[in-house]
Amino acid sequence: MSTLIHGGTLVTGEGTAPVECGALIMAGGRIEAVLDHWAPGQHYDGDIIDASGCVIMPGLVNSHCHGVTPGPLFPSAARALSEEAWLGNLDRHLLAGTTTVLSLCGLATMEQVREADKRHAVNVRGATTHLPSAISAAQIADGAGLSGREEGIGVEQMLSEGAVAIGELGGGQTLGGGGQDLVYLPAAIGRRTGVRVSQDEARRLKEAVLGRFVDATHYDFEEFAQAAREARLADVIDLHDLAELIRSTVTPSVTPAIEGIRQGVHAAARLGVPAIVHSASATAAVLRELMVDPRARGAKVVAAHVNHTSHTPTEARELAALGREHGWAGEASAFDLLDRRHTVKTREHWDLLLAEAGLVQIIGTDYGHHGQHDRLIAAVQDIAERGHRSLQDAVAMATSSVADLIPGIAPERGTLRRGLVADVVVADARDFRRVRDVFVGGERVVAEGQLAAGARR
Ligand SMILES: [Zn+2]
Repeated sequence: MSTLIHGGTLVTGEGTAPVECGALIMAGGRIEAVLDHWAPGQHYDGDIIDASGCVIMPGLVNSHCHGVTPGPLFPSAARALSEEAWLGNLDRHLLAGTTTVLSLCGLATMEQVREADKRHAVNVRGATTHLPSAISAAQIADGAGLSGREEGIGVEQMLSEGAVAIGELGGGQTLGGGGQDLVYLPAAIGRRTGVRVSQDEARRLKEAVLGRFVDATHYDFEEFAQAAREARLADVIDLHDLAELIRSTVTPSVTPAIEGIRQGVHAAARLGVPAIVHSASATAAVLRELMVDPRARGAKVVAAHVNHTSHTPTEARELAALGREHGWAGEASAFDLLDRRHTVKTREHWDLLLAEAGLVQIIGTDYGHHGQHDRLIAAVQDIAERGHRSLQDAVAMATSSVADLIPGIAPERGTLRRGLVADVVVADARDFRRVRDVFVGGERVVAEGQLAAGARR
């Protein structure tokens, strides 16, 4: 059984110029041939897909995902998503042309990662943060998804069982970031006062007490009193009690979470695997420290979401440039800054970092509100159309560059080349979000924009 795709703009993922009216032949789950021309009407003995008006590229490799496996969710090890929810997240990745995901929740077991991999056409890979301090940060911030076995597992065991990276080291939930604003802080304030504050109100209250760098000496009382009034809290709780509630909710997990980042990068240097670290205002100091730490020397470090909006744009640029000097790689996350704009409402950081050469090597999605992040393939088109990269280089940022940077994530994938595994995407050339067909290992798992029978297994 073989399939011919012809007539579209073919982008191999390796950074070579796109081929107009290129063609691709798949057989036995592999790419059999990549052709720079196929005469329409020429006889072919097998399935034929006319991709006129489309772009043909390798299945995308997304190195920054959450909520794609059973097991503890996020670095705070929150209660696992339901099976329908994590399968639904994988469906959305696949429908958007992503054929390989790396789960950065970090505390799932490899058994749980393999379960997700087996149940869905998307290739699901695992990473590990089974480090003493990262586990205690999770236990303090949440930990409802922990089984009690995590302390006994360890990074070495996870790597020997197939984890491909150490990460995500740190996260907004354990570091007083967005996860606190969205979930834990509104819950704690609600329990104490009966008032439900929004994510924006929670962030404003938190920053009035602890600043953007989670610093107990910050406390801006005037701003805090104003924020409390506007959040309808001033009459229901004493302001000093409210400040104390915010401190005691946000800060206890921060110190162990920062120590967990150190432990993870040291382990990466020792064990020769990539470390993926959470870049945000709360981690800027420890990342700067690790760039010159002798125990971190030689570690391959990927700074995740270098465009995180807890940094000012200037801070984000400076930290990424310092990382570049020290040989760190940068990943930019689309979050929902392109289309949805529910959690990230500015694209200033994204454009600033992508405009400068060498600050961003790869792109991912991270996790939008309830998993509703923008599509990685939309980010590829955005980067090309804004002129930050050529189309071929934008595609490489979500395919071959990811496979090169994190060697275990997508071996024999990420490039359209003879002999490699046939993970292929066909999308509307005018709007990449309209993904038409997706093949994983040569099997058509999205057909005409709909999940095919083989998508869930
Ligand atoms: Zn993160």
